[in-house]
Amino acid sequence: MRYSIATIPGDGIGPEVIQETILVLNKVGEIFGHQMDFQEVLAGGIAIDKTGMPLPKETIEICRNSDAVLLGAVGGPKWDNLSGDKRPERALLGLREALGLYANIRPAVLYQALKEASPLRSDIVEKGIDICVVRELTGGIYFGDRGRNKEGKMGESAYDTESYSVGEVERIARSAFEIARKRNRKVTSVDKANVLESSRLWRSVIVELSKDYPDVALDHMYIDNAAMQLIRDPQQFDVIVTTNMFGDILSDEASMITGSIGMLPSASLGEGSLGMYEPIHGSAPDIAGEDKANPIATILSSAMMLRFSFALEEEAKAIENAVMKVLENNYRTGDIISKGMTLVGTKEMGRLILQELAK
Ligand code: NAD
Repeated sequence: MRYSIATIPGDGIGPEVIQETILVLNKVGEIFGHQMDFQEVLAGGIAIDKTGMPLPKETIEICRNSDAVLLGAVGGPKWDNLSGDKRPERALLGLREALGLYANIRPAVLYQALKEASPLRSDIVEKGIDICVVRELTGGIYFGDRGRNKEGKMGESAYDTESYSVGEVERIARSAFEIARKRNRKVTSVDKANVLESSRLWRSVIVELSKDYPDVALDHMYIDNAAMQLIRDPQQFDVIVTTNMFGDILSDEASMITGSIGMLPSASLGEGSLGMYEPIHGSAPDIAGEDKANPIATILSSAMMLRFSFALEEEAKAIENAVMKVLENNYRTGDIISKGMTLVGTKEMGRLILQELAK
């Protein structure tokens, strides 16, 4: 098969980690007999420098017409004093919106070889961590009605509105149930239904939809309890589905308990098979251009791309296994180094993963 992939290297370490990921995808293509066509496009700070805007129209068009989008990272101190819509990070919101990507999928996996990187007690991480957070991305309080009232008994006030429709909840819940079917068949829906009306609607829609998935176990948890349980007993979770704001917080918590930011991939999905895949880290300007960045988060994002956009499960697993093997062989980039391990740079880490793939 032939696949077209729009690549957005972006800023900082973005180009370095994307370069290694392209080599990995080409190797997978070679091994399994697929043709990967890459088209590089501009977004973020580099796009501001070259075109005056963070997300040129041409970039949106090319991404829309591709089978998937692979993004490095955008932003950096050079563009920090720009305001609102002119900032590099605007490109991310613009792309999600233009491509209709409403589901953010963030697996948080603690590799056995990296157990020492978790801040949790060793008896808790002993059993491993493998959670997938499914966060609603285009609704809720971040997009609801907001404003300020100048007059009031206690002075000026401000408000933001949490609002969800049945359709919005249904589509994110469906994504979560479908993903659970490919994993351990358990969904935990996180809300605040003891207080919020929007959460009561959220919960009732999910209960209704769960009838379509009798093979997937469903439970519910209040957000405050979920934040605690993630640290107390992370093994109880398989797929967590939640709102935009709760997901924002829980997905960061889930990534923290697994160790390094340089290891974690993500996917943003919509109605069709087109998705955007990116590491959860930023552009790391402090190490950009020094061959120090860990390329694994981006390489694992490309495995998610093969799985979710191209339905190439075997190929996705091949990448994940190659990464695991390199870690088991004690090779580490600076962000995950510990005593007795071999320190390697970005390029060497990429080369080692390619070598494992070819075995
Ligand atoms: P960051 O994730 O870029 O860096 C945080 C720390 O983690 C730094 O010390 C960095 O060196 C390290 N780090 C991150 N990724 C790494 C990797 N792959 N390998 C090794 N070390 C790694 O977050 P920040 O410093 O808060 O933000 C830097 C810039 O990135 C800002 O302009 C921010 O707006 C932007 N940003 C972009 C995205 C995105 O493109 N999706 C996400 C977050 C932040």
